[in-house]
This record gives sequence, structure tokens and C-alpha cells, in this order.
Amino acid sequence: MEVEVEVEVEVAKSSSRLVWFRRDLRVDDHAALYHALREGGPIWCVFVFDTEILDELLREGWRADRRVEFIHAAIVELDAALRDLGGGLIVRHGRARDLVPALARELGVDTVVCNRDYEPAAQLRDGEVGAELARHGIGFEQYKDQVIFECDEVLTLAHKPFSVFTPYKNAWLKKLTPYQLQAYPVRRYAAALATPPTTAIPSLADMGFEPTNLVTLKLPTGASGAETLFDEFLDRIDRYKQTRDFPATKGPSYLSVHLRFGTISVRRLAREAHARGGAGPEGWLNELIWRDFYFQILWHNPHVLHRSFRPEFDAVRWVDDEARFTAWCEGRTGYPLVDAAQRQLAQTGYMHNRLRMVSASFLTKDLGISWRRGEHWFARTLNDFDLAANNGGWQWAASTGCDAQPWFRIFNPVTQSEKFDADGQFIRRYCPELAKFDRKRIHAPWLATSLEQQMAGCVIGRDYPAPVVDHAAAREATLERFKAVKGGVA
Ligand code: FAD
Repeated sequence: MEVEVEVEVEVAKSSSRLVWFRRDLRVDDHAALYHALREGGPIWCVFVFDTEILDELLREGWRADRRVEFIHAAIVELDAALRDLGGGLIVRHGRARDLVPALARELGVDTVVCNRDYEPAAQLRDGEVGAELARHGIGFEQYKDQVIFECDEVLTLAHKPFSVFTPYKNAWLKKLTPYQLQAYPVRRYAAALATPPTTAIPSLADMGFEPTNLVTLKLPTGASGAETLFDEFLDRIDRYKQTRDFPATKGPSYLSVHLRFGTISVRRLAREAHARGGAGPEGWLNELIWRDFYFQILWHNPHVLHRSFRPEFDAVRWVDDEARFTAWCEGRTGYPLVDAAQRQLAQTGYMHNRLRMVSASFLTKDLGISWRRGEHWFARTLNDFDLAANNGGWQWAASTGCDAQPWFRIFNPVTQSEKFDADGQFIRRYCPELAKFDRKRIHAPWLATSLEQQMAGCVIGRDYPAPVVDHAAAREATLERFKAVKGGVA
């Protein structure tokens, strides 16, 4: 009998696990949580506000960061959701690579479980955590959760990684079966959750951060916020293709920050889009495939973090111009659509996709400033900042990336404005000083006569900046800059 009891204890102990939440801040359809719960219990859950990430923001004086506040709100909601299921979240503030193994030992679990993170720094951290756990006889399991297809799952016929989107997308769609889109039924196994004692979640102030304007922005947070946004989006998904390029129109889903922090499962989104079919949902699914595409680009080509995807473009001689860079960051370039875009970013942490393309093109092709400076600025300021998508987007716009905009194709910031914000509605929202210009003048107000400027109550050079560069001249300079490294070859 005694032996049997010992065996029972042994079995219970061997299935005890610690689920480490990172960029997957939800309960439902959560791969790691599901796999842990399936093994039995007790299952503990932890989230660490990682000082290795947060202290870098603080060092740069970035105390009011919407993302930290967004995560904080998501953690409060996640803890409540887990408690409703009989569990709860252990929340710590410190170095995750030390705290997670220490907590695993403290709890006596036999395995730490998490969802895979594909960023090089996270991979290094996870490697160290795995090694430390192994030293103490604790296992470390990772699952695919952030993407539909990861790493080597979609390859060319020659078993090489793709670097062009369309064939990647075709292979992705061909490989897709209902299995990849299936939800993990976490709640069915929730009885295995362990209940940690209730302890206070560190406040923003405890961690050195200040509140932002997240609340006044009314950006819905947490898994419930993601559900709200997705429900709203489903009402307009059929019009996605017609509306997605117009920043003044409520066209896209605005779910990127939720995908970034995993407050909604990408499987759920892709499943819904795929099941609906039709131009709108298929167009939107296409964007989710771009997301997977850039994840696998970063995975197979980690050099893109520091260099151009295409090495020949590392020789481009970018311009160092602090004043112009600051004007771009602050939305004072004199090009209304670019300025409105940059001000939207500063005020809300979001920038519409069309505007990201226009603004990134302006920085690199009109101002001639390196994409790396723009990438860094977006990394600081975007709520949805994602290393793979941001790097991919910047290298696309700068023509240094895989499947990028060809270097000789240069967006004209005025014609982009006339095409995608024809009435100037978006510009008026973020550049109110230009509001009284009519729809013809608002895209290039420096062309207005002095009488027109006076009538609009906005004198260029006084109330709104004159253009920092002449687009036509800047275009020629950029073509020369690229020809110098390409020898004029496209
Ligand atoms: P929707 O149109 O509703 O798209 C749905 C989802 O698909 C998005 O939430 C996003 O996860 C994904 N997606 C859409 N377009 C792309 C794309 N081109 N590449 C990869 N994924 C995409 N996206 C980020 O999530 N984080 C970034 O840091 C980021 N930086 C960018 C930088 C530049 C210079 C450019 C040109 C694009 C960048 N993008 C980035 C891609 C895109 O602009 C945003 O994903 C999109 O604007 C987010 O808004 P949404 O959720 O309303 O998009």
C-alpha cells in the first residue's frame, strides 16, 4: 500500500508544470497552457515584467510607454480570467531568465512550458533558461502559438526558405488544413490549474513607469478588448479590400497590438477569415500571411536585424541630418500626409499601414536617412511594435529587403496624399492648422498663394513648415544613391 501511495505522489509531482506567459496574454486557445493542462496538474502560471526589456526603456527616459500600460491591463485581466477558472497568475518584476528557473524550483514543478518566441534575443534567453532548468532536472517545453506556420514548416520545393511573398503565400495556403486553425480547448482541462495566493500585481509606478493616454484613447485592452475589436471588424471585413488603404476610413482591424501581445489567438482570426472566404476576408488573411512571412524571414535571416536583407544595399550612403530626422519624428516636414502620419503615431501609438509605407518611404527616399533610424523610432513608439514585421516593413520601404519595393520606385508624398486622403480628412484631424485649406491645396499647401494662405489662416513657414526638401530633387538624389551601389541595374 505504501508503495502505491508513493507512486501516486510521484505521478502527481511529475505532471506539475509552470506555464510561463510572454506574448500570449490570454487563456483561450493557448497552446502552452493547453498542453500543460492536458498532462494533469497542478499547473501554475507566471508572468514576469522583465527588467531586461523594461530597463532599456527607462534608460532612454521612456517612462510613459503605452505598451507597458497595455500589458499591465492585460495581466490584470488574465489573472482574473485564470482565477475564474480556479487558478491565478503569479506576477513578478525582475530578470525573467533568473526568476523563472527560481520559481520553478520553489514550486517544485518538473517542467516549465511556454509558447515559442522567434526573436533572436528571446531565443538566447530561452536557451539560457532551458539550460538552467536542465541543471536542476527540470524540463523546458515550447509550443507553436504565435503563428500559423513557423520556422521550417513552409519551404520551397528545394527545401529552402522563401524570400518572395507570393510563392510563400501560395505554399502557405496549400499546406493549410483545418488542423493548423483548430483552437486549443483550454477550459475543458481547467480543473488542473493550481491557485497561487493572491498577491498584488506590481503597479506601473512600482516599475518606474508613468500612466499614458491609453485610457483616453479608448484602446480596448486585454482579451476582452481584442474580442470587441474583432467583433466590430467582422461587420466590415467584407469591405476590407476597398477600405484598407484610406487612413480616414475605419477599414483595417486595429488588432495589431493584440496580435503583438497575444490577447487574441492568430488561429482564431485566420480560421474566421478562411471560413468566410470572399475578397474581403481573403485580403485580410493575406495580411496575416505577411505576418507569418516576416517571422520566417527573421528566423532564417537573423542578419536583417543589423544589416540589409540584400547585402549590396549596405553600401548605400545614407544622409546624416539630425534636424531633418527630428522634423520627421515630430511631424514637421512640411508634407501634410507624412506629418499627419507621424503625429498619429505620437498621439496614439498607431499608424495606418498605408501611412507607414508613405512615411518610411519619405524618411529613406526623400530625406535619404537610413531605414535603421526609422526602424528604431517605430520600435520605440508603435504600440504594435514587432521586430519581424517592423524590420520587414522598413526594409521593404527602403528597398533593401526581400521582395521589397524596387529602389527606383519612389512614392510621391503629394500624389499619395491626393489618392488616399483625397478630401484631406485625415490631414485635418492631425494637422489642424491646415484644416481650412480646400481639398486641392491641403496636400501641398506651399503651392497656395499668399492670399489663399491668409484665407486659410495658415501662413506656410510661420504656422506650418515649408517643405524640408523638394521631392523632385530628393528623388534624383536617391536614384543616384542607389545607382552607385547597383551600377544602375534594377
Ligand atoms: P490589418 O490591416 O487589420 O491587418 C491584420 C493584421 O495583419 C495586422 O494586425 C498585422 O498583425 C498583420 N499585418 C498586416 N500588414 C502586415 C505587414 N505588412 N507585415 C506584417 N504583418 C502585417 N506591423 C506590426 O504588427 N508591427 C510593426 O512593428 C510593424 N511595423 C511596420 C513598419 C513599416 C515601415 C511598415 C510599412 C509596416 C509595418 N507593419 C507592422 C505592418 C502593418 O503596417 C501593420 O501590421 C498594420 O498597419 C496594423 O494595423 P491593423 O491591425 O489595423 O492591420
